[in-house]
This record gives sequence, structure tokens and C-alpha cells, in this order.
Amino acid sequence: MKYLLVSLLTVLAVSCNSAQNSVTNKIEKPLDRSDYASSISANDLKTHLYIYAGDGMQGRMTGSNGQKLATEYLRNFYQNQGISSPIEPNNYYQNIPASYFGGKSDNQDSENVVAYIKGSEKPDELIILSAHHDHLGTDKEGNIFNGADDDGSGTVALLEMAEAFQKAVKNGNGPKRSILFLHVTGEEIGLYGSKYYTENPIFPLANTVCNLNTDMIGRIDPDKAENPNYIYLIGSDKLSQELHDVSEEVNKTYTNLELDYKFNDENDPNRFYYRSDHYNFAKNNIPVIFYFNGTHEDYHRMTDTPDKIEYDLMEKRTRLIFQTAWEIANREGRIVADKL
Ligand SMILES: [Zn+2]
Repeated sequence: MKYLLVSLLTVLAVSCNSAQNSVTNKIEKPLDRSDYASSISANDLKTHLYIYAGDGMQGRMTGSNGQKLATEYLRNFYQNQGISSPIEPNNYYQNIPASYFGGKSDNQDSENVVAYIKGSEKPDELIILSAHHDHLGTDKEGNIFNGADDDGSGTVALLEMAEAFQKAVKNGNGPKRSILFLHVTGEEIGLYGSKYYTENPIFPLANTVCNLNTDMIGRIDPDKAENPNYIYLIGSDKLSQELHDVSEEVNKTYTNLELDYKFNDENDPNRFYYRSDHYNFAKNNIPVIFYFNGTHEDYHRMTDTPDKIEYDLMEKRTRLIFQTAWEIANREGRIVADKL
């Protein structure tokens, strides 16, 4: 019995060894962009969003206590990730005085939240990933507008992208160009935070390569119920053909979503191109892409809650934006704005 046991153990040890070897080999394979993209997960997005669009944030009305809790959540996230601020150590807030909001912030100051990864080869060239952190607050009875899709979805997508880029940095694989994670305030009351940033840029606008703006990527437009593997892209070809082409190519290679340009049409009556924060960058001749799932029955209603988000789809959409940012940050030449 004993002998048998020993030889069995030997066999086990040998097979374990070879299993271990193959695991070791796998670990030694250098991580690539898809490995970093894979770290963006439906589960993590969901965990963040249930907190960020939970009742505790009181609907995140610009200047309100709930909004302050929301921006603290973002700041703590970046601090914990070891992602720095471009302003000064541990100050992630670009403060905006109450007067700037024309009375719409309940006479309270508010702030954009900013975090920064410095490029390894072309640090002066900057890509801005943005989403608005604010929403509609509460009604007079105190009922909460959670804003899970609008724009909790874009906000937590930014967090996951930042984490993926930071993972790459830690592996010595950080982006060649710099990346600014910009959580703007005051969107719902009139695109104030993005306007303030473009009037008071932390880095010169002339060095800003593009803005990828994410506002509502967690739901499905009822028109798309039969074919939900999509995302609407707006603005991608307006200032730079190259940006549009890169975006298409990245999607074909890595994500295979249907990129739908219905709302990119100049004659579309919704005029979404003019209705979220990217427009303040486009106005300044900075190429933009706006990522958007379209509206739905819960848009700007109290029923825009985290339980209604399609997390697997949101994961895929977030990976598309991440891969596009990765490409723009790492390709040889800066993308050209040829349509000014
Ligand atoms: Zn929004």
C-alpha cells in the first residue's frame, strides 16, 4: 500500500509540475492590450454602479450633498488606485465657484474630478476620457432620481478604464500619450463643467488630441430590442476622418459591436451632437466621439435605476472605448483633425 501511495504521489507530483509549468508559461507571456481590456468586467461595473447610483448619493444634483458624496467616491477610487491628480498631490478637484452656474447649483460651488496618467513617450499630447458625474437630484417630496444610466454608466466605465490603464502602467506598458480622466459636473443644468474645463484647461487645448465622451451606455434603445449588440457613435467623423477610421478598425478587431451612426446625421432632429459635454471640446476644434445608447422609457425618470442596466453589454461597450483610447494613445502619429 505504502509503495503504491508513493508512486501515486510521484505521478501526481509530476503531473502537478507540468501543470505548474504551463501556468508559469502563461504568466510569463507579456500582457497585451486585450488582457488589460479584459480587466474591465461586468461585475466590477455593477459593484460600482449600485453604490454610485444608489439612494445614498441622493441623485447627485450639482452642488448638493449627494453630489459631494459622489465626487468623494471618485476621488477615493483614484487615490486607492494610485492614479495621480494633474493639479497637485491629492487634490483631484477642479473647483468651480457657485457664481459660474448662474444660480442653478443652489448657490453652491461644485467641482470637476480629474485624474491623470502621464504618457511615457509623448506626455504633452493628451487624450481626455470624460463622463458627467451629476444628475437631477430629488423632487420636492425627496424622491430620488438615481441616474444609473445617465450618467452613472459613463462614470463607472471611466473608473474601470482608468484601472485598466493603471494596470498597464504597473506592468511597464503605460500609454505613450497622456490620459486625463475627467468627471465633469453641471451637465444636466447646461454642460457647465465641460464648458468650465475648456475655458480653464489644465493642459493646453492645442495639445489635446481628442475627447471620448461617455454618456449613457448601460441600456438598450427600444428600437434596438431585436439587435442589442450596438452602440450609437456621434461626432467621430466631424473633425477627423482618421479618428473615425481608427474607431471603426478597433471595433472590427476587438469588439464587433454594431456602430450605429443614425444620430450622427446633421439632419437628425434630436441634435445629440450638441447635447452632451463633448460638444464643448468639438467647439474648440478637438475631435470627439460621443458614445450613447439612445433614450428609453426611464430616461430622466426616477426609474433609471441600477437593476435595469445591461452589464454584459456595458462591459463590451466600455472595452470598445478603452481599446479606442489605447490605440489613439499608442499609435505612431497623433490623429489629425483634417476637417476644421
Ligand atoms: Zn447625461
